[in-house]
Amino acid sequence: MATASLVAQNNDWEMVIGLEIHAQLITQTKLFSGASASYGGEVNSHVNFVDAGMPGMLPVLNQACIDQAIRVGLGLNAEINTYSRFDRKNYFYPDLPQGYQISQFTYPIIGPGAVMIDLPDGQSREVRIRRAHLEQDAGKSIHDQHDRYSFVDLNRCGVPLLEIVSEPDLFSAQQAAALVQKLRSILRYLDACDGNMEQGSLRCDVNLSMRRAGEEMGTRTETKNMNSIRQIVAAIEHESRRQIALLENGEAVIQETRLWDAARGETRSMRSKEDAHDYRYFPDPDLLAVRIKPARIDAVRAELPELPDAKQQRFCDAFGLSSYDAAVLVASRERAVFYESVLAEGIDPKLAANWVITELLGALNKQERPLSESPVDALMLRELLEFLAKGVISGRMAKDVFAQMMSSGKPAKTLIKELGLEQLNDRDEITAVIGQVLQAHREQLAAYRGGKDKLFGFFVGQVMKQTQGRANPGLVNEVLKEKLKGH
Ligand code: ADP
Ligand code: MG
Repeated sequence: MATASLVAQNNDWEMVIGLEIHAQLITQTKLFSGASASYGGEVNSHVNFVDAGMPGMLPVLNQACIDQAIRVGLGLNAEINTYSRFDRKNYFYPDLPQGYQISQFTYPIIGPGAVMIDLPDGQSREVRIRRAHLEQDAGKSIHDQHDRYSFVDLNRCGVPLLEIVSEPDLFSAQQAAALVQKLRSILRYLDACDGNMEQGSLRCDVNLSMRRAGEEMGTRTETKNMNSIRQIVAAIEHESRRQIALLENGEAVIQETRLWDAARGETRSMRSKEDAHDYRYFPDPDLLAVRIKPARIDAVRAELPELPDAKQQRFCDAFGLSSYDAAVLVASRERAVFYESVLAEGIDPKLAANWVITELLGALNKQERPLSESPVDALMLRELLEFLAKGVISGRMAKDVFAQMMSSGKPAKTLIKELGLEQLNDRDEITAVIGQVLQAHREQLAAYRGGKDKLFGFFVGQVMKQTQGRANPGLVNEVLKEKLKGH
């Protein structure tokens, strides 16, 4: 990767990254109001008086958000704080009608935790989570509809977010990407967040500083506004180069908030970094502190699904998969369900994993289609692998049939019939074909018997040719050996 070599050239600069990830929680209604929390909708149609900051309106905590936060906390192996509190973070912005954001500053609902990330070299590493807190989202200012006016859409105002803050435990763009991927996967397994980055349900701020090996952490910048993992990687690469250039030049990195400009592929200064005290945080007097009883945590824990790490371990143990293959298969719940539905008596789980990863996901990737739109569903793939396992078709043919299944959506059974591909397993029929082949190639037969062993392959090839590749190769070998020995 370009950055890695650049870092190496520049006297062992090391990047240090900590992420702040905002996950929009899946709930019917907003954090403190009964308005719909769903994405989109007619402009300003999901807004009630609380969201619009009308005088005298009081926030009422949505209990569903607390349960979602607990789920995420458990999914991050984190402490669930039985006492937490809401604070006001004061600032003016046109899309924040209250004049403050209700957040959790001093007492977040989720304390320290840890997440395992899977790196491309097959290694796994733990990344510490510092905390996660509940807060309201802001609305959206619209600047591109009129040459003199800006508009505001408050639909998103008050939608529940969980901000997950990592420790600065990441040392490359790839590791940062791996953390986002892993968090997204966990959140989706939990049904806590849909993880849709383009729609903004998962947003990530990148804190990055550079240091020379062994030194203390340097001054960091915080980059916002990336809406895909690819852009996060690009922003990190750009920002690390920018900081190295400054530092090599003897200049200082200024602690500030920067914006990622995707069109130009660069980060740009947005505002100098504000400190916590600038926001005049104070406990929100309209809201009581949150106390969570241990029984409630237990109840949520009892309902948790099997999470990616546990599933990955089970796939390794039960099916003998490599850690890497298992990680690919558990990356989403949908994939894992697909894989397990392909498995059946008589099908080798490792072979099935190979088919799902290499053939199916490979083909879908080429067509840029999600698994949910695959023309071949799990049961269709299972049927194909059963034909293969029973020897009805060869491995080579299975690949051809699969390609046709992908393009036509027809089941394996139909295609095998249509294409006349059934493997020839009839010993008598194969024996007859071999007889014909030997008759037709007397010269080669004599040469073989005279010691030219290599001609064995020639005879196999002729038999396969005669049967359009349908003859069971094992059986051909066996019968051919007998025939060549005898007479
Ligand atoms: P603040 O609360 O002022 O936003 P924090 O110290 O709480 O700042 O850190 C916010 C995020 O920045 C965390 O994800 C943390 O891991 C990361 N971070 C803190 N210091 C550094 C640094 N020097 N370099 C890179 N990341 C950092
Ligand atoms: Mg911050």
